[in-house]
Amino acid sequence: MTTTDIEVGLTEEEEAVRTQTHEFARDVLRPAGIALDRLENPEDVIAPDSPLWNALDQYHALGLSRLMNDDEMEPTKKARLLAIVNEELAWGDVGLAITLGLTGLAEPWIRAAGDEGLIKRFCNPERPALGCWAIAEPNHGSDTLSLTEKSFSDPSIKADCVATKEGDEYVINGQKAAWVSNGSIAEVAIVFCTMDPSQGFKGGGIFVVPMDTKGITRPKPLDKLGQRSLNQGEIFFDNVRLPESYLALGSDFYAIGLQTMLSHGNSGMAQLFVGVARAAYEHALDYAKERVQGGVAIFEHQHVRSRLFKMFTQVEAARAIARRVATHAAASPMPNIEHCIAAKIFVTQAAFDVASEAIQIYGGSGVAREFPVEKLFRDARASMIEDGCNEMLSIVGGSKL
Ligand SMILES: Cc1cc2nc3c(=O)[nH]c(=O)nc-3n(C[C@H](O)[C@H](O)[C@H](O)COP(=O)(O)OP(=O)(O)OC[C@H]3O[C@@H](n4cnc5c(N)ncnc54)[C@H](O)[C@@H]3O)c2cc1C
Repeated sequence: MTTTDIEVGLTEEEEAVRTQTHEFARDVLRPAGIALDRLENPEDVIAPDSPLWNALDQYHALGLSRLMNDDEMEPTKKARLLAIVNEELAWGDVGLAITLGLTGLAEPWIRAAGDEGLIKRFCNPERPALGCWAIAEPNHGSDTLSLTEKSFSDPSIKADCVATKEGDEYVINGQKAAWVSNGSIAEVAIVFCTMDPSQGFKGGGIFVVPMDTKGITRPKPLDKLGQRSLNQGEIFFDNVRLPESYLALGSDFYAIGLQTMLSHGNSGMAQLFVGVARAAYEHALDYAKERVQGGVAIFEHQHVRSRLFKMFTQVEAARAIARRVATHAAASPMPNIEHCIAAKIFVTQAAFDVASEAIQIYGGSGVAREFPVEKLFRDARASMIEDGCNEMLSIVGGSKL
């Protein structure tokens, strides 16, 4: 069913999940993603009548939202299955794949915090809450992720969002950036913010924040180039009071918590953007077999065929590194951040290059909105910034060599 997947030894269960996910991606996510991409106003993407909500309902109904936090499944088996699922979902529409995937984000942090009320409210196995990861700030993007750099522990660099201890409560004030994926719609946020400013960003804490807490406001969602089906929006905190039990990790363990989140996030990005690269390659291959120039399908021209073969190779190499890193991360007590970053950078660059070449293979039609590849190109472009600019991530990964 997938044009190029040569994974050996998939179990019947894995094959069944892949087929089911592929059909969901083809029949629901792809058409919904195209419709949402064309909406002028990002507020319409999250309006009550948006196809986003039907996609979310079906995702839950298929049981896919449980997969990430299914503790019964053997970890490497689960990681391989998740990589397959993520590729299929993103093949349909990567913006929606990210939106839906964020239903699995909050649970490990909620369990780390250990508050029974939060667990009961947000970790319903049938319908885990829509989450978001809020770390980027208006004045600090790369700063918040550069955990191996001196600037990370420089107290003269002032954060935009700070939690202060008052009695047995934490009080959060400030702002998280417009880039927070699901920022406008999340039911619960995992907020990475400064607790001990004397340590700079290293003095952070990881909080579980129900988004209906008093003092939280979320203005208009962000309008942007690609991944337009993915809601993003800033979050303001005005004296937001949280009980102590909503703290998942304090500043002593913040750097390790961030490293874990960034590693899994980068590994997830790699798995997803294999799907984007594959979608662009498949469209280009189909088009090349239909479009006639010089009296034959352009696929018959040797140069076009060799360009398609390069795209095929990029998809294969991207999948190989994404799955290898995903299963390794699952088998280890702590993922290797350098491998997770390497996979993210390699795959997102490959997705961008393959989508760009797909436009070239389509010729003039490639830039027309009527055809599918210009959207994939825009979707892929954002990935080289998402979850860390690839340049900044290389610096963090490089420091581990
Ligand atoms: C689609 C998308 C989804 C996102 N989702 C989320 C999310 O869910 N939650 C969240 O909190 N954030 C999210 N982000 C934010 C993302 O993590 C930041 O945009 C990213 O870390 C870069 O920060 P910035 O935009 O402030 O750019 P800056 O950090 O200002 O970087 C600008 C440029 O300077 C370079 N640069 C910066 N610092 C250095 C350095 N020390 N050395 C060398 N070069 C440097 C960068 O490589 C870049 O080219 C998302 C972003 C995108 C595009």
